[in-house]
Amino acid sequence: MRNTLLENAFKFAHEGIVITDEHQKIVDINDAVQQLTGYTRSELIGSNPQILSTESQNKVLNQTIWQSLQRNGFWHGEVSNKRKDGSHYTARLSVKRIYALGKVFYLGHLSDITADRKYRAVLSDLILNRNSHQILNKNRLENEFSRMSSIADVNNENLVVAFMDLDEFKAINDIHGKVAADNLLDQIPQRVRSVLSETDSILRYGGDEFVLIIGGIQNHAIASETIQKVLSVIANPFTVNDVPVMVTASVGYTLYPEDNGSLDTLIRHADQCMYKAKLDGKSTVFAYDPDEEVQITERNQQLREIANAIKDDQFVLFFQPKVTLSTGYIFGFEALIRWQHPQKGLLFPDKFIEQVYDTELEVSLGQWVIRQALKQLAQWQQAGYDYQLSINLTAYHLSTSEFFDWFKNQIKQFPNIDTRRFQIEILESNRLSDLSQISNVVEFCKSEFGITTALDDFGTGYSSLTHIRVLPVDVVKVDQSFVRRMLTEPEDCKIVEGVIALAQSFNIQVIAEGVESIAHGEVLLAMGCNQAQGYALAKPLPIEQLMKFLDAYQPFRQWCALSGLLKNQKQARLSLFYFYLTYWVHQLQERLFAEPEIKTEWPITQLSESHCGIWLEKARYHHYLDNAMLEQINQLHQSIFQAGNDLLASYLAGDIHASRAGYTAQETAFQSALSKLQNLIKRMAD
Ligand code: C2E
Ligand code: MG
Ligand code: MG
Repeated sequence: MRNTLLENAFKFAHEGIVITDEHQKIVDINDAVQQLTGYTRSELIGSNPQILSTESQNKVLNQTIWQSLQRNGFWHGEVSNKRKDGSHYTARLSVKRIYALGKVFYLGHLSDITADRKYRAVLSDLILNRNSHQILNKNRLENEFSRMSSIADVNNENLVVAFMDLDEFKAINDIHGKVAADNLLDQIPQRVRSVLSETDSILRYGGDEFVLIIGGIQNHAIASETIQKVLSVIANPFTVNDVPVMVTASVGYTLYPEDNGSLDTLIRHADQCMYKAKLDGKSTVFAYDPDEEVQITERNQQLREIANAIKDDQFVLFFQPKVTLSTGYIFGFEALIRWQHPQKGLLFPDKFIEQVYDTELEVSLGQWVIRQALKQLAQWQQAGYDYQLSINLTAYHLSTSEFFDWFKNQIKQFPNIDTRRFQIEILESNRLSDLSQISNVVEFCKSEFGITTALDDFGTGYSSLTHIRVLPVDVVKVDQSFVRRMLTEPEDCKIVEGVIALAQSFNIQVIAEGVESIAHGEVLLAMGCNQAQGYALAKPLPIEQLMKFLDAYQPFRQWCALSGLLKNQKQARLSLFYFYLTYWVHQLQERLFAEPEIKTEWPITQLSESHCGIWLEKARYHHYLDNAMLEQINQLHQSIFQAGNDLLASYLAGDIHASRAGYTAQETAFQSALSKLQNLIKRMAD
């Protein structure tokens, strides 16, 4: 049984098996040898195995094999063989000396590896060829770069290092075939050289990629112009196999020495920009900006730092009081984030908040703020305080699909909290194109939790008007930049007035931020805005200081005294005029008595451009008051405005002492005119 098995194994083995006796005479072969060599069994038996090898397989190899067998009883290697029909093949041969029936035999295994060898040869040829081609060009590029950069250094000029890749070249390969495609590639350098100077270089870098080094470049504009020329010359049809073929290219480039690295680095930068050019729609140029690279690295580093800071609890919330002007009641606070940086100290949002936008940290930071604020609100409520707490969230964060479930989950962790005192200020709503999602969230927050929402920084975004109409918000926050400047800039004043009127017409509450003085509050009240927040009251404070502030807090009586204005529009309008004029006199005094080199705001000297002038114009147009009254007011204003302007003129003429003395002399007259105005206002209350 075993013998039959062995016989079959011998007979049907895939490899050729040749057995010779100690005199190198073949005593047996299997079927595979017959198939491989073309000889029959009977032709081979009794022959010397050399019959299988080629003439070129020199005697030395045969001797080596034989000697190795004598000495070691084993040989293994490749041989060059010949078939009966004369064709050659490469075989792997292993021969082993064996002993059987008391005699020495040699057992040889033979397999055809011709195909394998051929494949490897092609492969290594390919690799060798490509590499050597590339190495050669790389060396040439290095030489060219070193030559041209020295010239550029001497001439104080720039060098363009450009990376060019043909667009959709694979399609040309597929449609026209490899030979035609290669032919086209060969034509490229010549074409490109026609628009460059003789000393510039273009070298093939790989497949359909080329590197260009162009000298004598003064600036980016010229660099880009030169490359545009290259692109247009390439865009002209090529003739390949008598057929016109069109191709375009994308180019990225960098300017040496503005970008001052090794050639490898410059090529890498140009390559990155070429990729951007591809993304930009191909057939175009993209320039490398070294500053951008620095910015990107810095930003990434800062983002890592911010992510760690969230983990390490380095952020804190400060709280800025919000007040009802007419009562002086502090009804709540805005939570504003700060970064207690271990090295840099306390950082304000302008140092880090923009950086997190459009990254996943935008959401992480928002989540941190929500958690902290809920905790704070819960603590206040437990202590019996009924404060409202508002937080800032970006419109993007609110619009993420996970927001509402995540938020609900957080709220669940504070089962006793009255969420009606929680408010979300929506930031950057102009970054959001789809308002429907955010509108749903605002609606949900209100219906499920009674949470109110405010549109922050109102007036700054392009689409604020749409937002007030589309989003079901409860409050509009007039942006602090307008509020802060409203007393000195009539244009800002108009915006504040406009926003307040807009909010009122939509029946939405309005709050002004950036209230830096009593006068700001007075004007706002006269305009109909009764809620405010700003440095006049308090800056954002850490929690411990906030508690101390609240203990010591005394409402401003000037604001409380104006509560009646909210009910009497006529009185409010005239009060507004009174505040404008009072502020004008205040500015006049500040200017005249400050040292000339100290910068203070100049009172506006052009009637039509001043707050009072604009007010008078409007009052006449809308018939706010009867004509007699209006004329009386006009006279009062005129007396102050004219005298004030005369004083400013003499101040400007260098007669500083005289102008100051003039003011002191007329101060009583100014005050009495203002008092008359106040009396008119009071009379309106009756
Ligand atoms: P915002 O939400 O409009 O906050 C009002 C900003 O105005 C605050 O600046 C506040 O300190 C400042 N401010 C208030 N009253 C006055 C004033 O009378 N005069 C002046 N000059 N400034 C006043 P802050 O705290 O530096 O915050 C700046 C911005 O950073 C915020 O503007 C908000 O857009 C953003 N921000 C603050 N906290 C957060 C937060 O937790 N998350 C997000 N995403 N953004 C936040
Ligand atoms: Mg805010
Ligand atoms: Mg704001």
